[in-house]
Amino acid sequence: MIRIGQGVDVHPFDDARPLILGGVRISDSGGLAGHSDADAVLHAITDALLGAAGAGDIGQYFPSDDPKWSGASSSIFIREAKRVVRDMEASISNVDVTIIAQKPKLAPFREAMRASIAKLLDLPPGHVNVKATTTDHLGFIGRAEGICAMAIVAIATDTAGSPIEGAL
Ligand code: MG
Repeated sequence: MIRIGQGVDVHPFDDARPLILGGVRISDSGGLAGHSDADAVLHAITDALLGAAGAGDIGQYFPSDDPKWSGASSSIFIREAKRVVRDMEASISNVDVTIIAQKPKLAPFREAMRASIAKLLDLPPGHVNVKATTTDHLGFIGRAEGICAMAIVAIATDTAGSPIEGAL
C-alpha cells in the first residue's frame, strides 16, 4: 500500500542567521528566523513524513515553545519522523520538495540539498527531488520577506499500513 503525505513550512528572513535549507548551508545569504535552525525544507519533509504515517505534525513532537529545541539542528526532527515511518514497517518511496523563494538563487545548491536529504533519509539521491521557484515578485515571498518550503512524500507498506496508535 502507498500512503502520501504533504508538508508546508514558512519562515521569515533574519539576516543575522545563516541560511540552512535541506541541511545545507546556503552561502552568501541571510538566514531565516525560527526557534530551531529554521530549516524550512527539513520541517516540511518532517511534516510530510508524519502526514504519510498518520502521525500528527512536527509541533506535537517538537513544540516551538520548548527551550530544548532552541537552535536545534532540524536533522533531529527528520530523523524522528523517519523513525515513526520505520516503526510502522513502512519504507520511504520518494520525496519531492518545492522551495518558493524570491532570493537567493537556489539552483546552485539543488544537488547538494538533494544529496543531504537523501543521506538523512537513507535513500538513493534519485528518490529525492528538489525544485525551486519564485512568485515573480508577488506577495510576501516576492518581497523577499520569507521562504516557503513544500514537500510531498510517498511511503510504502507491506500491509494495510495502519498508523501506529499512540505514535505521538
Ligand atoms: Mg518551521
